[in-house]
Amino acid sequence: MKQFVPGDLDAAVIQEGLCIGCGACIHLCPYFQSYRGKTARLFPCTLKEGRCFAYCPKVEVDLDGISRFLFGKRYDSAPLGTYRSIHVSRAGEKVKKSSFQAGGTVSALMYFALREKLIRGAILTGRKELLPTPQLVEKPAAVFRHGLSKYTAAPTLAALNEAIEKGCDNLGIVVTPCQATAVAQMRMNPMGNPSFEDPTALVIGLFCTWALDFRRFEAFLAQEVPLKEIVRIDIPPPPASVLEVYLQDEKLVFPLDKIRPLVPDTCGYCPDMTAEFADLSVGVLEGRGDMNTIIIRTERGERIAREAERQGYIILEEMPQENREHLEWAAANKKRRGLLRSREAGKLNGEEGKTYMRLSAEVIDEILINGKEDAPCHT
Ligand SMILES: Cc1cc2nc3c(=O)[nH]c(=O)nc-3n(C[C@H](O)[C@H](O)[C@H](O)COP(=O)(O)OP(=O)(O)OC[C@H]3O[C@@H](n4cnc5c(N)ncnc54)[C@H](O)[C@@H]3O)c2cc1C
Ligand code: SF4
Ligand code: SF4
Repeated sequence: MKQFVPGDLDAAVIQEGLCIGCGACIHLCPYFQSYRGKTARLFPCTLKEGRCFAYCPKVEVDLDGISRFLFGKRYDSAPLGTYRSIHVSRAGEKVKKSSFQAGGTVSALMYFALREKLIRGAILTGRKELLPTPQLVEKPAAVFRHGLSKYTAAPTLAALNEAIEKGCDNLGIVVTPCQATAVAQMRMNPMGNPSFEDPTALVIGLFCTWALDFRRFEAFLAQEVPLKEIVRIDIPPPPASVLEVYLQDEKLVFPLDKIRPLVPDTCGYCPDMTAEFADLSVGVLEGRGDMNTIIIRTERGERIAREAERQGYIILEEMPQENREHLEWAAANKKRRGLLRSREAGKLNGEEGKTYMRLSAEVIDEILINGKEDAPCHT
């Protein structure tokens, strides 16, 4: 179980520049609000034991506690986290062609889960111009209006909190790795509420090397293109090293060197590339922009993915060893970078109520050795 430590979220995370704007602290009380990519505390709060602090994925994250809760085992140094199997995947013949970022596995799984009533609603992230707009989707066909990656950090979990507040349960949600950490902490009932029930039935995590700061990215792109006309944004896998912006009849290409300064500092501390605390984790298959990699982690994730495959909603194939090794290499490298950065800043096993992560010295050593070689990855 997460060791619950009372603390001041504003001082420990927001003022320290560690907030990623995930939305986990929004809609719990009137004090925290998210506005155009920024989370702010409007008024001081006297509570020292809030759900906001307990859910936040940027303070007092007990990696071992979460791993024991989700998988019944300690957090070890495995680059991809705990999993049952790993595959190449894409949407199957039961899913109409639509705008997907890669193979459409994520949208296909959420569509299937809604159609089969395995979930009551799905928390997805659409966009208005560049602004990510998370919301609860209840009709299966509406899933396809929320496809495609919004490469800016999004307050997706604010929509989850709002849905829970309205009494929704059995929810599916698509999240980045930091958001998957927050959701896992929510599911641990850290405040010990006796009437607590897990509101989630399926957590799909996206691979993530970094996200962009919404305000900085908007200001950058607004100088280059009419934001209303953007159809799609892509960061193709290496060796491309570019960000592509698609308009109706045109494609603009920006070198990643111009884009990296728009990444918030907090992503540099993050050790998780593959959403280790999700039921299923999905990314782009290296070398095949129209296919996904899917990592099956939990029993409930496996049940849904296998049934979706059996009914023709997704296709699962064997993962070539070369791809798996490369993914492990990239993930190990991100883990090492995140831990080193956190340690340098005193945010790894640091001051109580202020540290980012807690992890045993033995596992830290293993991770630092595993990720020693520089991997060519999404950055
Ligand atoms: C910020 C970010 C960084 C990423 N970095 C990598 C990477 O380094 N390597 C890699 O392999 N893959 C990365 N991905 C994942 C990749 O872009 C695809 O989302 C993934 O492969 C699923 O493809 P798909 O065709 O199944 O998705 P689709 O079927 O098109 O569905 C995409 C889903 O993502 C959700 N979504 C979109 N934007 C966000 C967001 N900002 N926050 C939360 N949910 C969102 C939508 O709700 C939708 O359900 C990243 C995604 C994001 C959002
Ligand atoms: S919960 Fe999310 S939005 Fe709130 S302070 Fe933490 S990182 Fe920021
Ligand atoms: S790099 Fe980490 S902190 Fe940044 S958006 Fe991705 S998962 Fe969140």
